Amino acid sequence: MSQSRVGQEIEAFCGRCRMDRTHRIVAQDPDGSIKKVICGMCNSYRNYKQPSPRSTTKRAASRTSTSTVVEEKLFPSRNYNMKESYKEGEVIAHPTFGVGKVLSERDQHKIEVKFADGIRILLQNR
Ligand SMILES: [Zn+2]
Repeated sequence: MSQSRVGQEIEAFCGRCRMDRTHRIVAQDPDGSIKKVICGMCNSYRNYKQPSPRSTTKRAASRTSTSTVVEEKLFPSRNYNMKESYKEGEVIAHPTFGVGKVLSERDQHKIEVKFADGIRILLQNR
């Protein structure tokens, strides 16, 4: 049985070369397990990982966490009442349609409101 030791060469996957390269062992644990290796091709220094078929799925999953979903959270400032008047940008609560945001004032008596299920025309100043 041959023990691996610092200075020896070993095949390992190089993350920079993106392929298996001959690495040189530069650090190891007192129990003889390899800690750090250096790529003989690009000289990049890395923690040596024992090749394990189970570790491959974990890497792919960590890639997807970068997409940030920006969802607009609406907090109604008041309940909708057709007798009142509304301004662009106001968030209102409608008894039937739910929470909506005033997109624009159509005219003196109509507002365009965006609800979760679509844009609706509501009355104002009635
Ligand atoms: Zn390399």
